[in-house]
Amino acid sequence: MKHNLGAAFAIVAGLNATSAMAQPAANAIDAHLAAAKAAAAFDFTGTLARICIAPQTAPGPDVRPPPPPDRATWFTEPAKVFDNLYFVGTKIHSSWALTTGEGIILIDTLYDYASEEAIVGGLRKLGLDPAAVKYVIITHAHGDHVGGAKLMQERFGARIVMGAPDWDSIEKSVNQYPNGKPRRDIVASDGGKVTLGDTSVTLALTPGHTPGTVSMFFEVKDNGRPLSVAYSGGTAFNFPNDVPHFDTYIASQRKMAELAAGRNATVVMSNHSEFDNAVIRIRLLAARKAGEPHPFELGREAVQRYFKVMEECAQVARLRLM
Ligand SMILES: [Zn+2]
Repeated sequence: MKHNLGAAFAIVAGLNATSAMAQPAANAIDAHLAAAKAAAAFDFTGTLARICIAPQTAPGPDVRPPPPPDRATWFTEPAKVFDNLYFVGTKIHSSWALTTGEGIILIDTLYDYASEEAIVGGLRKLGLDPAAVKYVIITHAHGDHVGGAKLMQERFGARIVMGAPDWDSIEKSVNQYPNGKPRRDIVASDGGKVTLGDTSVTLALTPGHTPGTVSMFFEVKDNGRPLSVAYSGGTAFNFPNDVPHFDTYIASQRKMAELAAGRNATVVMSNHSEFDNAVIRIRLLAARKAGEPHPFELGREAVQRYFKVMEECAQVARLRLM
């Protein structure tokens, strides 16, 4: 009896010790989650849901891509969004054409299966010449952004800009490029500029989503009024989920917040509509009345909140590993 009581007491004491130790961590996770929700508000629910609520936990395997989905699942009309920025993406993924005095800088190239119709066809529909694309900036070497790089390089002679580790991952891949790979071209450098005519895109290396993720800053004009854009190059947590990877990711989000503040960015874009609501905002733009704000112009404070969501969700995932 005495022995049993002693054991019971030990178990209770053990439980108390465990919960006392677990308590601060649980509180910290809750605090980061609450901070992420507050930062997301109603502006960034897609990003919040993707990386705070149901984070992914591993990189995809090096396998051949599945057959293309039905066109109706991805096709959407291209659109002029700013005086010098055109959307040639899909319902799911973004591709943007930044027009300059000397040609076009294209940002991201969708999946292989969508690039011909959405990018080449989309530019033509908008009265732009795909052969005028001089540079293509690839945010990272996942199939949904790098798919059309080979086409733009081979058919139109566009120069491809990408982070060094992501060029490496393309070269290493055995199965992901059944239709061929883009040839290694320009390596993105931190703070480097891609300049064409009167326009420059400033690159920021933001490792995390992939080791070579490239984010960027550029200016658009809304009926002549200049606006500063922060473009986030990678979001989801499908990288090896360990503390050092999350530390890298978090550092990149802090860096983006700081650079965005310094540049007075009032527009934030990403490469999935899930994250920046690009397709929905384009729909709103079509109904914009004179004097109304541009649907992409969220303001300086909201841009800061965007990078806060990314940072806080990464803090949640990081603490859960500890
Ligand atoms: Zn990706």
